[in-house]
Amino acid sequence: MMTNPEQDRWSRVKNRLRSNVGEDVYTSWFARMDLEGVQDESVRLSVPTRFLKSWIQAHYAERVLSCWQAEMPEVHRIDLTVRSAVRPVVQAKEAPVPVEVRRAPAPELRSTATAPVSANHDALGGSPLDPRLTFASFVVGRSNTLAHAAARQVAEGRRGDPVMFNPLYIHAGVGLGKTHLLQAVTWAGNSGNERKVLYLTAEKFMYGFVAALKTQTALAFKEALRGIDVLVIDDLQFLQGKSTQAEFCHTLNALIDAGRQVVIAADRPPSDLESLDDRVRSRLAGGLVVEMGSLGEELRHGILKSRVAAARTHHATFDVPEDVLQYLARAITHNGRDLEGAINRLLAHSKLNNQPVTLEMAEREVRDLIRPSEPKRIKIEDIQRVVARQYNVSRSDLLSSRRTANVVRPRQVAMYLAKTLTLRSLPEIGRRFGGRDHTTVLHAVRKIEALVSRDNALSEEVESLKRQLQE
Ligand code: ADP
Ligand code: MG
Repeated sequence: MMTNPEQDRWSRVKNRLRSNVGEDVYTSWFARMDLEGVQDESVRLSVPTRFLKSWIQAHYAERVLSCWQAEMPEVHRIDLTVRSAVRPVVQAKEAPVPVEVRRAPAPELRSTATAPVSANHDALGGSPLDPRLTFASFVVGRSNTLAHAAARQVAEGRRGDPVMFNPLYIHAGVGLGKTHLLQAVTWAGNSGNERKVLYLTAEKFMYGFVAALKTQTALAFKEALRGIDVLVIDDLQFLQGKSTQAEFCHTLNALIDAGRQVVIAADRPPSDLESLDDRVRSRLAGGLVVEMGSLGEELRHGILKSRVAAARTHHATFDVPEDVLQYLARAITHNGRDLEGAINRLLAHSKLNNQPVTLEMAEREVRDLIRPSEPKRIKIEDIQRVVARQYNVSRSDLLSSRRTANVVRPRQVAMYLAKTLTLRSLPEIGRRFGGRDHTTVLHAVRKIEALVSRDNALSEEVESLKRQLQE
């Protein structure tokens, strides 16, 4: 156990360190460093991950030591260990391997410098790119103008240019072009100039870290990341696990602080990434956050045309008449994937049967992509998302216990929609709204029912929300 004077000394050392490296660096790397004990001339410190350990050793070992020496001149050694929350028993048996911190580079640092390149290569191989997903094939329309412009700007930046918005965070529902845009940034960045752009899915990012941590090349991984000018991460909502998120947070901070560009896509805004901690969320929200809306009919038409043009480079005789394009653009409303699927089917059909594409054939072939009569199944999350967007509050506000008017009304509307548009029971709805009682839900439903019948503005709002949800 630590004695009081030891505690005090540790606080003073931390304060020194904080003023030495600055608040941001301190919070990124040292906030989770604990004092384990002081013995003679050595101090034992611990951090929660191997990654933090190697990062601190590589970059801050001397400063940590000198901050200690300023308080305790007799200290000559810092042993940095990784505390294991998972296997305390094993750790008790395994003596921690002390890592000596000296003025000269520590031995461990030299060994990591020669870490096998392949390990680090594997971790950072990037996710596969689809050669068709470029800016040339990306169709710009009302719902994605801003996202497209921002992505272009990022892709055209040169090494050393000031970074305008960091991170660039793009969110949209499934099939609305996030991956297309991110891969376009990657292709353009890597071909246009001397910068290195790395595209990773959140899964690959997790796999990279896990693999790197297992093979103890976390430092190599981190070093390799530092060689990257633009880091592109797709589907951030899949980032899972406390420690992965902590590493993600460090990576994000390190890259942004070094003036590297980070581009992220997810299916929801930063405020709705519930499992991420507040600091990461606010860092994400601190750049440029852009939403891409649903594809309008014109945009769908453009996408179909672009798909046909792409198919024609391999199948010169393939053609889709304008009336068919119009029909498809009107009929297929869901997402870009269905548009792609429709063109693929028409292509397959016309090739296999050696027949030109006609309206009748199109109607027959894509019937199941249309489902006009089948009502869409609406989820409570969708209701919360759409309502939050409409009233400009966050989804977590809706679930919170806040009772200010600007949150109470949207919350009631959302509960009302949940009751009228889904088959969920009142208690279930209550649970999904931050663990509320079913009587609260009932009250909200009655309240909105009553208001809708006499308040025209509200009634229109509710109708518009329903349309958005059923679209
Ligand atoms: P997300 O990653 O948002 O789920 P994708 O980027 O995978 O969506 O897009 C789904 C399909 O729709 C892809 O075939 C993509 O090329 C196409 N698509 C979506 N938006 C556009 C667009 N603006 N221009 C061209 N194709 C698009
Ligand atoms: Mg995607």
